[in-house]
Amino acid sequence: MPLSSLSTPSASALAPYGWDDAWTDTFAPHAADGLLPGRVIRVDRGQCDVVTAEGLVRADTAFVTPHDPLRVVCTGDWVAVEPGGSPRYVRTVLPRRTAFVRSTSSKRSEGQILAANVDHAVVAVSLAAELDLARVERFLALAWESGAQPVVVLTKADLVPDAATRAHLVQDVETSAPGVPVITVSAHDGDGLDVLTAVAAGGTSVLLGQSGAGKSTLANALLGEDVMDVRAIRDVDGKGRHTTTTRNLLVLPGGGVLIDTPGLRGVGLWDATGGVGQVFAEIQELAGGCRFQDCSHEREPGCAVLEAIDDGVLPQRRLDSYRKLQRENLRMVAQKDARLRAEIRKQWKRKDAEAREAMEVKRGRWA
Ligand code: GDP
Ligand code: ZN
Repeated sequence: MPLSSLSTPSASALAPYGWDDAWTDTFAPHAADGLLPGRVIRVDRGQCDVVTAEGLVRADTAFVTPHDPLRVVCTGDWVAVEPGGSPRYVRTVLPRRTAFVRSTSSKRSEGQILAANVDHAVVAVSLAAELDLARVERFLALAWESGAQPVVVLTKADLVPDAATRAHLVQDVETSAPGVPVITVSAHDGDGLDVLTAVAAGGTSVLLGQSGAGKSTLANALLGEDVMDVRAIRDVDGKGRHTTTTRNLLVLPGGGVLIDTPGLRGVGLWDATGGVGQVFAEIQELAGGCRFQDCSHEREPGCAVLEAIDDGVLPQRRLDSYRKLQRENLRMVAQKDARLRAEIRKQWKRKDAEAREAMEVKRGRWA
């Protein structure tokens, strides 16, 4: 980072939280308005905790609470807060570089924003349990869809002492994860933790993965102490008082930031169309060689994908998994569209009612 930006108080105080030159540029008009930049470390009903150059401040989000649930303030957001006032208000949320979204329920197809501005989505997969590649692919689709770079961490390597078996498992994961670094670690004997620490130092990370995959253990290893102790850290708020805050965003001693919100545990797929494509990059590439542009790779002549399966280049399992995720996505998109259509209908009904009311008023006046 150039000295010019580090010389401002905001930049040097916020650099550990991921503030960089690009954020400085984006923030410039708000700085001119006298607002303070800060990163949201926690959100709860209408309020959020924001780390600023002046310390931790609690700010009200009433100004930036839009109708769209995907645009509400979330952990990891960079915001512009008022320099003072009681309550202080968040005035703007800076445009997100990446965003993690989950579907809130299967019936109500609304998304919920979980974390913003994440650079690395670390997907923890236990080597001690039977490898479920389809599940790994699901997490990767979600990770790609967020805009973050996925990284697979195979945990509990100490429980697979046989090097050949381990190499085999790593290879299986690697073939299911094109473009994704695969790291093997053991929190038990510390193997590979240096690699993970280096990855995490490069920005903001989240830990994804099935329950029991070793996420909390990895978080503790990265933080160098018990997360629960670090979370309830005593902070100095804007008025110089000490307060105790639960943090969902933590600065790592080795550099970088970790976001760990309860909601990120057990995220599902949400309209991850783009993400699915990236998880199955090699299938997309093969599909380019199919005779028909809209080939469904079912039984068409000249299908390069089926040919690759026949030749043993592409495992059948990959194609099955690809189809399954695509179907799941279509259902999601269809649900979302249904919700959109219902919303539009509601708006039209309201407009109709307003028009009728206006007519009645007119008639009343003329009668
Ligand atoms: P989470 O549910 O994903 O947060 O998983 P946890 O971090 O709670 O880990 C689940 C279990 O796996 C715990 O009993 C951990 O002690 C254990 N575990 C985690 N990492 C390792 C490891 O590297 N080696 C061994 N042997 N056990 C581990
Ligand atoms: Zn085809």
